[in-house]
Amino acid sequence: MDHFKTNGKKGILYVVSTPIGNLQDITLRALQILKEVDLIAAEDTRHTLLLLRHFDIRVPMTSFFEGNELKKREFILSRLNQGERIALVSDAGTPGISDPGYRLIRLAIENEIAVIPIPGPSAAITALSVSGLSTDAFFFKGFLPNKPKKRRDFLKKLEEVKETLIFYESPHRLNETLKDIFEVLGDREMALTRELTKMYEEVRRGKVSEIRNQIGENKLKGEITLVVSGKTRKKIGEMGG
Ligand code: SAM
Repeated sequence: MDHFKTNGKKGILYVVSTPIGNLQDITLRALQILKEVDLIAAEDTRHTLLLLRHFDIRVPMTSFFEGNELKKREFILSRLNQGERIALVSDAGTPGISDPGYRLIRLAIENEIAVIPIPGPSAAITALSVSGLSTDAFFFKGFLPNKPKKRRDFLKKLEEVKETLIFYESPHRLNETLKDIFEVLGDREMALTRELTKMYEEVRRGKVSEIRNQIGENKLKGEITLVVSGKTRKKIGEMGG
């Protein structure tokens, strides 16, 4: 087990990142921690069981998802207070990033329990890293609002943002969202990343209009992260009077 400053007899909450597709992306340290903890708090225990089976890890699990978060927070806290070491994992990537976890992590901190990150993949950074768009500053939103009006209003607020924009998107809303991005933010450079690290991984780069034309009426499937250029200065010649 890693050696960290812990708080007396209290336990440790490990925030463990897991692969976003390819199981080989698990880190050695994540494997070690998952093997050694007393309990794994998983967003979906059936999903995490596949990961654990693959790596022959046999540790008790408890579910921790949005619907039962309130009740489970107290349960997990009481076990941490009794000195247990608990790993928090989500279905994919880094817990707390558009996934449950944040409030549990806050509660642990407020109760002076050591919270230790076990870093690894996150779809946002993975997508950004291959987007070809500026990486020095970026704005991550996670999922845009579901309702069309709210989504457009949110995008409108991002119009002046110069940093690269990163959004998670579900395939059934993709075409609508691309239309909104085109209409509200304009015909910017973007990268549509899909199924990263998986068998059907793809990255489409181009103007929003080009990506929309490529997709047409087709419904793409799988996990999608969009990376959109921030507002850039217009080139001479493009500027209006
Ligand atoms: N906590 C996770 C992380 O750190 O990446 C994100 C969780 S969020 C509920 C799930 C969303 O992440 C998906 O709907 C999709 O937008 C994006 N995502 C997850 N896996 C992906 C992948 N392999 N390729 C592209 N996007 C992915």
